[in-house]
Amino acid sequence: MLGGQRFQDKPEITASRVFFGKKTITLPISPCAKSIPRYELDLALLEAAREAGVQAEESVIVREVQQQNSFHVRTTDKSFTARAVVNATGRWSQLTPHHAPQKEKWIGLKAHFQEDAPPMSTDLYFFDGGYCGVQPVSPNAVNACAMVRADAARTLQEVLSRHPELRARSRDWQPLFAPVTTSSLYFRQPQTEHRGMFMAGDAAGFIDPFAGDGISLALHSGSLAAESLASFLQAKGSLVESHLQYRKTYFKRFTPGFRNAARLRMLLSAPAWLNSKLIGLAGTGPVARMLVRGTRAQIS
Ligand SMILES: Cc1cc2nc3c(=O)[nH]c(=O)nc-3n(C[C@H](O)[C@H](O)[C@H](O)COP(=O)(O)OP(=O)(O)OC[C@H]3O[C@@H](n4cnc5c(N)ncnc54)[C@H](O)[C@@H]3O)c2cc1C
Repeated sequence: MLGGQRFQDKPEITASRVFFGKKTITLPISPCAKSIPRYELDLALLEAAREAGVQAEESVIVREVQQQNSFHVRTTDKSFTARAVVNATGRWSQLTPHHAPQKEKWIGLKAHFQEDAPPMSTDLYFFDGGYCGVQPVSPNAVNACAMVRADAARTLQEVLSRHPELRARSRDWQPLFAPVTTSSLYFRQPQTEHRGMFMAGDAAGFIDPFAGDGISLALHSGSLAAESLASFLQAKGSLVESHLQYRKTYFKRFTPGFRNAARLRMLLSAPAWLNSKLIGLAGTGPVARMLVRGTRAQIS
């Protein structure tokens, strides 16, 4: 398994607690999940790819990709041709199509804080205009990560005061680094191809962060793109056929998760009076369980 030994000491998350208004629902996570910092996961992936024979280059920016018969790729320091290209450069890169901004502006905020013996659960605190997720990253530190409408809160301190239980929990937190804020988060229909490139991860589609499934989707869609390209690279079919195969499977596996997460986002944006009624309904155990399942990738 990827990095099996090196992640052994990471916190094991055995439950998810969802705080909706005065309601708290606890959902077991079984088998348990490991809380792994993104840099460590990326390093493990890079090493696994190299061990499998991939030639990986670091600190290189791809400036341009043009499709003629093959693809012409221009980077910061060289140019080369490729038979196929998978674009996994995330949602903000110049290689990813940008769509007209939406009316509602959402932002992401994150920082690590010192907390002694945090509960081994992923805790989601919902409030009017957004939510904040809190998860242990070590035996005495937590990651607090929020997605909020820009008009609801501008700083992480404001976010921490938006839910009474989160306010009480964070009273003695000491920041371990200055909070990081993302550019605006926009949501659009997933797109699996752009200028001949296969799109994977956030470049293809960005799922609401509260689903906690973005990295899993990035890994699964990247693998699927590679599997779908195999027949083209083995000269058993065309690039267009490979893409159609990728598109079909991508939409079957991943769009239910995008759709259900978008529904939940709409629930969060509803007017307060409606929001509290809907949240009351979503706060019942079976509905919450369905929502968690409904935002996962449908991998058999
Ligand atoms: C506030 C917030 C909270 C989140 N919480 C969670 C969570 O709890 N769980 C979860 O699973 N997901 C979460 N996500 C989502 C998750 O971060 C993304 O879904 C995931 O990072 C997507 O991975 P990716 O590899 O597709 O894109 P990215 O992680 O964006 O990686 C793209 C990479 O491509 C590089 N790049 C860009 N342009 C170029 C170029 N031209 N040339 C070369 N390289 C380039 C970038 O530098 C970057 O390293 C959250 C996101 C936000 C904003």
